[in-house]
Amino acid sequence: MSAQEATPPAETAPAGASPEALRAAFDRLKAAYRKDGPIPYKERMRLLKALKGAILSRKEALCAALNSDFGNRARAETLLAEVFMVVESIRHTRAHLQDWVEDEEREISWHLQPAKGRVIYQPLGVVGIIAPWNYPFQLAFLPIIAAVSAGNRVLLKPSEYTPATNAITRQVLAEVFSPDVADLVEGGPELGAAFSGLPFDHLLFTGSTKVGRIVMEAAARNLTPVTLELGGKSPAIVHGSYSLAKAAARIAWGKTYNAGQTCIAPDYVLVPSGQESAFADAAEAWIRKAFPTLLQNQDYTSIIHPGHHKRLLGLIEDARAKGATIREVNPAGESFSLGSGKLAPTLVLGATEDMDILSEEIFGPVLPVLGVPDLDAAIAYVNDRPRPLALYYFDHSNKRQNQVLNSTVSGGACVNDVLLHNTQEELPFGGVGPSGVGAYHGRTGFLTFSHAKSVFLQSRLAGNALLDPPYGGLIENVSKLFVGR
Ligand code: NAD
Repeated sequence: MSAQEATPPAETAPAGASPEALRAAFDRLKAAYRKDGPIPYKERMRLLKALKGAILSRKEALCAALNSDFGNRARAETLLAEVFMVVESIRHTRAHLQDWVEDEEREISWHLQPAKGRVIYQPLGVVGIIAPWNYPFQLAFLPIIAAVSAGNRVLLKPSEYTPATNAITRQVLAEVFSPDVADLVEGGPELGAAFSGLPFDHLLFTGSTKVGRIVMEAAARNLTPVTLELGGKSPAIVHGSYSLAKAAARIAWGKTYNAGQTCIAPDYVLVPSGQESAFADAAEAWIRKAFPTLLQNQDYTSIIHPGHHKRLLGLIEDARAKGATIREVNPAGESFSLGSGKLAPTLVLGATEDMDILSEEIFGPVLPVLGVPDLDAAIAYVNDRPRPLALYYFDHSNKRQNQVLNSTVSGGACVNDVLLHNTQEELPFGGVGPSGVGAYHGRTGFLTFSHAKSVFLQSRLAGNALLDPPYGGLIENVSKLFVGR
């Protein structure tokens, strides 16, 4: 089916769902789980295959929808970070699901042999997923794929800032799943609050640390387990022995991809003291080459909405007012207004701790470049701050790579590149501390949405009943054997 012929949006939960529609969608999923139980393995495989087809047939519509939601969203970024990432996750899941769903035999200790031990992976039931706006399709569907692969039913609440993408998401869900398997409700923070107060069997939230706290609090009232995929300030550290030009190119790429609106974008960079300007020169050179113009350049993604744009301008102005040097990279000398939706990549030198830019997650194409005297100081800088979602280290020395990886705690890390750890299905993706709780992707995602049920299978030859009360000489002798005299 072509995108133009796509199924009309499902009638089940209209845009801006009322609390009643939300509750009805949830109750329908719960009732279906009670009635029909887990989605069988073969059906999961069929659904995932159908999902792939439904997405691929809408890739052009999806590019157009993201473009409309962002003002301008680079087509290549939509094709790779939304379509390919999701389709690749389906491919990987379908290739491995047979192994993942298998019960696992576990060793039974010598004193209870010949009993057997087994772990059974059961779906949890009905899973809630709350998605943000920055990769609205990927961050809705990667959790859906993981939840469905584990046999769950799903209710999704996407961001209110991506209505065009949400319309495609709704079409895809309606084409592939019946609303008692997967459904969607749309709405803003108020609906999000009601959503996270529902007694889901698991809730996966992707968004800010601030809202993550509220979601966890609401879920706690139902003892609903949560996976929180949050944000934070992910550092990049460049060792003095590493090519400044190479590091600057990779960091500038990560900072301008989706105009820096990426949870794992390098937030700031630490370079050896005295190399701040040289690093900024190299980053600027890469940006000028990658984006010779910005305003009409379709490769350079816009800032999603004026509120976010103003926040970013505010961070820059606060840094400027407090004495930082602001280097706007504007290769064609264009004028930017709020209405243009574009924010020129901006390097910030000489930032100090009293500036908001060093305490708030930036989430845009603005990069503070800070000098540190040595590697120990860089590690200390990171460890003095909340644990980040990602850490990037540029250095060819294995010894120092291990030093950095072992002496810092971050959700994930990339050595000599940025962002790419997130694209690997078999690398668990998640934060630590304020950058997140739990993880998913690949088998980790399957496990996140499964209950690992322990089963002890007694043998016909069991002898433990011989040790029942009334206790006598036999248990005395056996306990000497177990615990010594
Ligand atoms: P956000 O926290 O404002 O919103 C995320 C979702 O939560 C939206 O669907 C929103 O409607 C909903 N929401 C808002 N208030 C709510 C409430 N009180 N209760 C329940 N739900 C509520 O985040 P955002 O602005 O959409 O996204 C940006 C943030 O997300 C950044 O901090 C970024 O780092 C983070 N993020 C993290 C990841 C990750 O995988 N770790 C990925 C992308 C984005």
